Amino acid sequence: MVDDTDHDDADVSRRSYLKAGAAGLAAVAFSSTASAQADQGDGRGRGRGTRNSVLIEGGTLVTVDEEYGIQRDTDLYVEDGEIRLIGDDLQVPAADVVDASDSVVVPGFVNAHLHTWESGVRGIAGDWTFMEYLEKMLGKVSAQYRPDDAYLGNLFGAVMQLNAGATTVLDWFHIANSPAHSDRAIDGLEDAGIRALFTHGPPGDDSAKWWDNSSTTHPDDIRRLATERFPSADGRLTLAMGARGPDYSTDEVTRKDIELARELDIPVSMHIGSLGSGGVKTLDDLGLLGDDLNYVHANRLTAEEFELIGTSGGSVSTTPEVELQMGMGMPALGDALDAGAVPSVGVDIVSNVSDDLFTQLRMALQVERGLRNQPEVAAGEQIQEVTPSAHRALELATIEGARALGLEDRIGSLTPGKRADITVIDADDLNTAPVHKPVETVVFQAGIENVDTVLVDGEVVKRNGLVHNPTAQQNLDRLEQSARRILRESGL
Ligand SMILES: [Zn+2]
Repeated sequence: MVDDTDHDDADVSRRSYLKAGAAGLAAVAFSSTASAQADQGDGRGRGRGTRNSVLIEGGTLVTVDEEYGIQRDTDLYVEDGEIRLIGDDLQVPAADVVDASDSVVVPGFVNAHLHTWESGVRGIAGDWTFMEYLEKMLGKVSAQYRPDDAYLGNLFGAVMQLNAGATTVLDWFHIANSPAHSDRAIDGLEDAGIRALFTHGPPGDDSAKWWDNSSTTHPDDIRRLATERFPSADGRLTLAMGARGPDYSTDEVTRKDIELARELDIPVSMHIGSLGSGGVKTLDDLGLLGDDLNYVHANRLTAEEFELIGTSGGSVSTTPEVELQMGMGMPALGDALDAGAVPSVGVDIVSNVSDDLFTQLRMALQVERGLRNQPEVAAGEQIQEVTPSAHRALELATIEGARALGLEDRIGSLTPGKRADITVIDADDLNTAPVHKPVETVVFQAGIENVDTVLVDGEVVKRNGLVHNPTAQQNLDRLEQSARRILRESGL
């Protein structure tokens, strides 16, 4: 899929890649080819790919839309950021053509739970328990973040997601240590070019105050953000509240926080059920359940609590790798599916685990299959079928994730009329060819290294395997410096 006209660009990209490697930031390759377009006049700037119209030509489309299904050797036409047409041999005047003849084209992934700011402290918590994480990350590390660190963390965390084919993240921001921290974190998402639900959480400067049965209500700054930074509900960035909820704050605080979010007409995401059960029951007792609530982890909730989530229309975000590591319990994907809750999958924290939704999806699916198989296995019998299916798993990372974030009308499937958030996966690589069943190729075989091209809102942000973001490239050294200072000053 290398275009002959791109040779000069490819040379620049290779140097950029080496630079990234030298800085210790593996798996992020930058191209400076878009630098001529980088100056946005606001001092930040970032390269914009071709806007207006893009033709993705001859791909195997896995639309995750029942009406369109899977289509081979099919074109997809994008104009003004919207998917306009899907069909054979489209005759349209496109400003940019992506050759997808050896590719599987899927909706951009939706990473339903990410603390994006932690990208600079990648890997430090790989052996930590959940209690250690609460003590060190939310007690020591998060307190050392300054506004510019929040910017760098979010910029790179978001760029890493784009690199991995995720076009949307729910960014659960719990270092709102000052209004400037939040503003700079939002700037970081904006400069990355990702679609995000910026989920404003509490400060990270005092874990006892904010996370230990907290009697302090959500920071009022969220009102300012709602009017100043998120005046429109249909922009690329929208707002949610990251509430502590019943597991981490008093009932009174939980009630006031959720009421505030509803006054602002924004959804609420909260961590729940990873320490014990009863949180959802409390929400029910308080009369607070609703389809605007997103429950993260949910491992230890009771069957009754899952029923309450399902009947109230709530969503559950499973982050299997972190949950398995830190002792939260087995991933609750099956409970969420059985209860009819909206299921979704997220990375959570790259301080512990892998960046990419491919890994999380695979892990969520196979752990759930293992749990379902276990009764027969334990009885010495053979299983009769394998569930959930690979296609159901792909839905978790696309349309269901979009639903969990309240964005299903705009993204989550390759459907004409939706925004053009698209991931093109090389299907002729050693680990992906030959493709017999495209869904299985994506769910079980593909990885970051196969993500060739990524569009967000019709904008090409990754091409020929390289992320186009001069702003991130210019700041690469600063991310490492920022992270080293934070770790030094936090005593880690
Ligand atoms: Zn989390």
